[in-house]
Amino acid sequence: MNMPKHLLIIGAGAAGLPVASHVRRKDKDIEITVITDREYFAYSPCGIPFVLSGNIPSFDSLILRNENYYKEMGINVITKTKVKKIEIDDNSVSYDNKKIKYDILVIATGAKPIAPPIPGINLKGVYFLNSLEDAFNIRDALSSAKNPTIIGAGAIGLEMAHAFLKKGLKVRVIEMKDHVLPNILDKDMGDIVYEYLSSLNMEIHTSTTASAIIGKEKVTHLKANGNEYETDLVLVSVGVKPNVDLAIDAGIEIGSTGGIVTDASLRVKRKGKSVNNVYACGNCVEVTDIITHKSTISALGSTAIRQGIVVADNIMGKNSVFGSISSPSIAVVGELEIGSVGVTKEKAIEYGIVPLEGKAKGLTRARYYPRGEDIYVKILSDSDYRVIGTQVISKEGVKGRIDAMSLLIGRKTTVHQVAISETSYAPPISSVLDPLIMAARKIIGAD
Ligand SMILES: Cc1cc2nc3c(=O)[nH]c(=O)nc-3n(C[C@H](O)[C@H](O)[C@H](O)COP(=O)(O)OP(=O)(O)OC[C@H]3O[C@@H](n4cnc5c(N)ncnc54)[C@H](O)[C@@H]3O)c2cc1C
Repeated sequence: MNMPKHLLIIGAGAAGLPVASHVRRKDKDIEITVITDREYFAYSPCGIPFVLSGNIPSFDSLILRNENYYKEMGINVITKTKVKKIEIDDNSVSYDNKKIKYDILVIATGAKPIAPPIPGINLKGVYFLNSLEDAFNIRDALSSAKNPTIIGAGAIGLEMAHAFLKKGLKVRVIEMKDHVLPNILDKDMGDIVYEYLSSLNMEIHTSTTASAIIGKEKVTHLKANGNEYETDLVLVSVGVKPNVDLAIDAGIEIGSTGGIVTDASLRVKRKGKSVNNVYACGNCVEVTDIITHKSTISALGSTAIRQGIVVADNIMGKNSVFGSISSPSIAVVGELEIGSVGVTKEKAIEYGIVPLEGKAKGLTRARYYPRGEDIYVKILSDSDYRVIGTQVISKEGVKGRIDAMSLLIGRKTTVHQVAISETSYAPPISSVLDPLIMAARKIIGAD
């Protein structure tokens, strides 16, 4: 009798768990083990800022599945257990002085927060946010905090800053670049977000670099651009880097971005060759940018889950491919929805693309319909008029437009085609001429 194969997955996050459940749905016999070094799993980290802001009643709501659910599916989830070593030649992994064999291995170890080399970063009162456990610590610290500082005005930094603001705290944000959300917005669009947050009394310092965190036992001050600010909690939110220690130790190829290199099927590479029975997916993997054609890192849950499904398909023998990404993303900061897809102007120039730009300000509803909101759209194209990026800001209607532009970027659409595309209309939810079309018309000189 043939023994069932053993699928071993390291990581129980947005990438690892979908591999387990998709494979199980198709194959009732395969043995599946998922190992995570965390206590909590199958939860949505993306909801954390909205629990802290009070929009979601409790952290329990973020936990989507429990151990029993996976037990009933015949998936063995081992928690609070750190894998120490992968031995590819031996098809085994080691943890807690145990060694277990696999037939198929999936590395889905995620990313870890970047800790900039700032003196005082290890002081009490300094936090990073990467897991539910981190969120619990921040929640506990918030009960006595008065004037928190967030280093980094990215999506998570701003969502958290707004959550702190809603708690009635005096919030300060420190951002090194000259505008907020610098990875997804150009300065002119970032300034719209800045104005909105400033109007809520959030103190934002752009073009400002944190140089020291000061305090005896606990943080009391933060030094930036020569100024010292009083603060009793610091959240460092300056991005993440792929968690690849295990992969490096196993001799798996790591790319220039610091992420695991895979082939199109998401198999890892070793000594220049794809390893047939070892896959990697999620934030530990490097991907290809659809515009620059260069390797990049996606720190998005939406990318992680899509990769998990591709890996599951390949394990089931489907020959599935993970293509280049345009990274559609959206942040919700207070009432504002901020979406972006493709590259920013700065990134385009960095990669030798000469960007053309068209901007439009419209309304989310017919002019006469109550409670319409301003909507700001910016489209970027290359000199051949292919769309390379889009940024949209409004209090409603952002996601649909970003997702539509993601599809168009994927199909190498020109702004001429966007300018004549058909869009739907009803007074309570749109204006007759969509602002996307107005922005595209600006680039081609039609307006
Ligand atoms: C506050 C916050 C808000 C976010 N908001 C959004 C959003 O709105 N939209 C969006 O698209 N993305 C968002 N993200 C990003 C998204 O959560 C991540 O992209 C996603 O979780 C990555 O999935 P992953 O499976 O690659 O990694 P993770 O979910 O981090 O999982 C990694 C797993 O690997 C395990 N692991 C690592 N090393 C070992 C080891 N040696 N042994 C055992 N286990 C190990 C960990 O325990 C964990 O289970 C947000 C993230 C945060 C923190």
